[in-house]
Amino acid sequence: MKRPKLHVTAKIRDRRLSMRPADAKKAFSKVADNLSPSEINTLNKTGGVRIVVKKVKGENAARYNGIKKGKHCYVVDPAALNDEEVITHEAVHALQETDRKGNRPKIDSKLSIKRPLSIDDLALKEALTEAETIARVKHINLNNTPYYDDIKEQCDTSGKGNCKTPRTMKKEDRNTLTNGTDRPLGKRSVAIVHQKFDRLNIAQYREKDGRKTAKQHRMKITKVE
Ligand SMILES: [Zn+2]
Repeated sequence: MKRPKLHVTAKIRDRRLSMRPADAKKAFSKVADNLSPSEINTLNKTGGVRIVVKKVKGENAARYNGIKKGKHCYVVDPAALNDEEVITHEAVHALQETDRKGNRPKIDSKLSIKRPLSIDDLALKEALTEAETIARVKHINLNNTPYYDDIKEQCDTSGKGNCKTPRTMKKEDRNTLTNGTDRPLGKRSVAIVHQKFDRLNIAQYREKDGRKTAKQHRMKITKVE
């Protein structure tokens, strides 16, 4: 089967940027390398992707805004367009919303953007998304460790105070997910993240004012399934 192309349209919202829509489109389209042909088809069936490039305030360099006018809509900061992890993370959000053919876990619909989500739901959703991102990308970037930066230091029980840095936690998770091969897992990432989630450092993530870690909250909401 010929590899399908992800349909992307791009708009540059900020006149000060010298970027052309074609450049933005090309940069975003690279995310398709980390998706399987069936996943690309799923996104295309919804109408593909529409990105608006503009300066994004705060630390989130990109935002998925759900399906509008039949397309998956994103706002992306120009600096994030060439960041494989940021773009892959956002593509995973789109799959969570549309891939209902049994490829993805039921929890996706519980954590859908269309629902009112609690702060602990959000923590779990982001932790699952980031884990899947780390399993899918060609290379992980250890100089940028979003989500891991917010995990309380993980110290071992030896009493020597050996604490893991965000870099170490991220690297360990990539190792756990890829079984030490450091090879991207593609579509298999979905199942593997759910198999191994409780063992990952990212499972300790919680939102600033949240009450539960992603791991605790996942246990709670999968129990009543
Ligand atoms: Zn996210």
